[in-house]
Amino acid sequence: MVLAEGVRKRFGRTEVLKGIDLEVGAGQVCCLLGPSGSGKSTFLRCVNHLERVDGGSLTVDGERIGYRRRGSVLYELKEREIAAQRRDIGMVFQRFNLFPHMTAVENVMEAPVRVRRESRAAARERALRLLDRVGLGDRAGNYPSQLSGGQQQRVAIARALAMEPKLMLFDEPTSALDPELVGEVLDVMRGLAEDGMTMIVVTHEIGFAREVADTAVFMDDGVVVESGHPRDVLTSPRRERTRSFLAKVL
Ligand code: ATP
Ligand code: MG
Repeated sequence: MVLAEGVRKRFGRTEVLKGIDLEVGAGQVCCLLGPSGSGKSTFLRCVNHLERVDGGSLTVDGERIGYRRRGSVLYELKEREIAAQRRDIGMVFQRFNLFPHMTAVENVMEAPVRVRRESRAAARERALRLLDRVGLGDRAGNYPSQLSGGQQQRVAIARALAMEPKLMLFDEPTSALDPELVGEVLDVMRGLAEDGMTMIVVTHEIGFAREVADTAVFMDDGVVVESGHPRDVLTSPRRERTRSFLAKVL
């Protein structure tokens, strides 16, 4: 489903991604771990072309992200085509970024109505079902300010699901939450994984990664240091760098 080959990205003189190879099969969950500044967010942003890669390639469901090859020349896609690719990729950030002036259900309906031109009635009905799925069926009429951080993050997940993405990207979805609210968000993500959603999750929740991930990838300084089954990578890592990182976060 997701294939990254030799993905490179630099900001000015600093190369932040130094050739990332990574593969996530359909319906699989890949957890991405690594110290601050190792390039995890940059990589996720490359997957939906919020950042342009400087080298290598990324494909999602067989489709090259951001570019089209004609002969030996690579052309960047038009804004409209990039937007179409992004529609299939849901993203959830550390900060919930809900529209503060819209209720939960309006937040979830917004993209289907505006982007896909769904009728408000149909979009609302689906949004209510999605809110139900994330355990917020009774909160549809609440504004973000009336919801806890964990509830807001679950609305953000429902909002991403409303576009029926093929792939979901999560960038530290629980790290801005009070500890007692982390579990409810992880439970929703676990449910998504069980339903067969393909996911890349940047997280420091080692327990979640061990339990839910099909692959764990440890990144440091713009390279994949170690990847494989979470049982190996997170329980008996082969690399010293992975070991010392885990010792710090556990
Ligand atoms: P964290 O765990 O703190 O979120 P991360 O692994 O997500 O870290 P990135 O945010 O991908 O790391 O950043 C990798 C490196 O790229 C950092 O050194 C960061 O300062 C740099 N960087 C990220 N975005 C930009 C940008 N837009 N311009 C310049 N440098 C950037
Ligand atoms: Mg980050």
